[in-house]
Amino acid sequence: MATTVQQAQQSSSAASIVVENPATGAVLTTLAAHTSEQLAEMAARGRRAQPAWQAIGFDGRAKVLRRMQKWVLDNGDRFLDTLVSETGKTREDAVLAELGYAAGAFGFWAKSARKYLADERVRTSSPFLLGRKLIVRYEPVGLVGVIGPWNYPFTNTVGDAIPALAAGNAVIVKPSSVTPLTSLLIEEGLHACGIPEHVFQVLVARGPLGGELVDVVDFIMFTGSTETGKQVMERAARTLTPVSLELGGKDPMIVLADADLERAANAAVFWSMQNGGQTCISVERVYVEEPIYDRFLALVAEQAHALRQGAPGGFGSVDVGSFINLPQAEIVQAHVTDAVQRGARVLAGGHRGQDGPAFFEPTVLAGVDHSMQCMREETFGPTLPIMKVADAEEAIRLANDSPYGLQASVFTKDLAKGERVARRIQAGAVVVNDCNANYLALEAPMGGWKDSGIGTRHGPDGIRKYARRQTILLTRFAPKKDLYFFPLRAWHGKLLLGALKLLYGRGERG
Ligand code: NAD
Repeated sequence: MATTVQQAQQSSSAASIVVENPATGAVLTTLAAHTSEQLAEMAARGRRAQPAWQAIGFDGRAKVLRRMQKWVLDNGDRFLDTLVSETGKTREDAVLAELGYAAGAFGFWAKSARKYLADERVRTSSPFLLGRKLIVRYEPVGLVGVIGPWNYPFTNTVGDAIPALAAGNAVIVKPSSVTPLTSLLIEEGLHACGIPEHVFQVLVARGPLGGELVDVVDFIMFTGSTETGKQVMERAARTLTPVSLELGGKDPMIVLADADLERAANAAVFWSMQNGGQTCISVERVYVEEPIYDRFLALVAEQAHALRQGAPGGFGSVDVGSFINLPQAEIVQAHVTDAVQRGARVLAGGHRGQDGPAFFEPTVLAGVDHSMQCMREETFGPTLPIMKVADAEEAIRLANDSPYGLQASVFTKDLAKGERVARRIQAGAVVVNDCNANYLALEAPMGGWKDSGIGTRHGPDGIRKYARRQTILLTRFAPKKDLYFFPLRAWHGKLLLGALKLLYGRGERG
């Protein structure tokens, strides 16, 4: 019989990390947590290994990444079993947003790294540099630290290590202590695919060692809560270590009166409940134009009632799994209680689930407003609060009335109108007639505005951030002395001033 988490925690020292299946309470394994000394050794080993990894070039690195792309699919069942057991997410969630991402990302960065990091020949408009050659080039930073959350152990942890590796860096990944097993499996896979020793290392640790990781790397890629992200940035300031932060969200969906109501309702239920609602870019709040509000509520409530929840088994066993991190249940309960006390109506769910402490029923709330926590703070659970609005203007105002700005969606049959609304929403991505499908486009930047983050993943900057930029200016033909060299003479200054006036002093005509 599996030991319970409590038993395992009692028998383990503070230096170990107990990994459990949150849906069943079974202990999966107990890992020895790394120490500060071990982290220092890992950093030193990573730095020693990096130059050879850089030296094998884009083709050499792409070979390893392409082999790994096949490895994750060849080992798909093992990968899915690990993900499902350490998170409590359904097998479908693990396929859609973890295996699916892995399958695409290894190949994408293998192919795109060379293009995005190629030397750029720059033509300058400065007449003073006529005839010179100007190049901007990218050099890997060296050692990258990737700190990830528990909700997507592959996509939001290892996923950000792939471009860092493709750029020629060594990487230390620190997964959440709640979900370290996926990262360890990927480490095994990368070694099987020929990555040199110590180029990819996994730090098994709780939060505080994540802070120490910031001290020993050349770049930190952090995904997690806004609160921790701010601490990471503060710590990184001590060593002037650059950071990229992917943080929390409170993503609004706007449903306009002319929307395909069925599609909008289906999308709202799926993208709020998928992964148990524990997705940074999930639908966290909905604004619906008054004429369609009641019909939309009816469609959503009917679907939410039909959802099957429980410990995930094989494909099709349940629709919604458990919480990954148990304390999350308390936050969701608090938001639902607060909403009900302030007058919200519960159309579906509303209670802790029947299957144990890690479950909360898929919940739909109507009659909500911005005085309620469920409309202002990140809930990160299977809840869908829906608010009636007079028109698109009110919806836009309320969507922007948030400290967050990660992602948003708009539903309307009028694409031009959808785009106009999208352009007025303060978020890193806005999707019309879908929710977070943009995440599949690895060519397009993904990142938050406001308290949702700094920097982006994906697209050119998703790999250039892991490199230092260097400008090289080449001068072939030049006089022994430029005009402005010593000794300074009055006529030099006058000539220079005259040239500046001629070039730049013509106002509108210039
Ligand atoms: P968290 O901030 O609690 O932890 C994230 C990681 O930081 C973990 O590995 C943790 O061990 C580590 N950590 C904790 N304290 C640290 C410190 N002082 N210094 C360095 N590292 C430290 O986040 P979580 O609860 O694991 O994840 C959920 C949050 O992540 C949600 O807010 C969600 O919106 C966000 N998230 C954002 C994105 C995105 O792309 N924007 C994606 C997924 C999750």
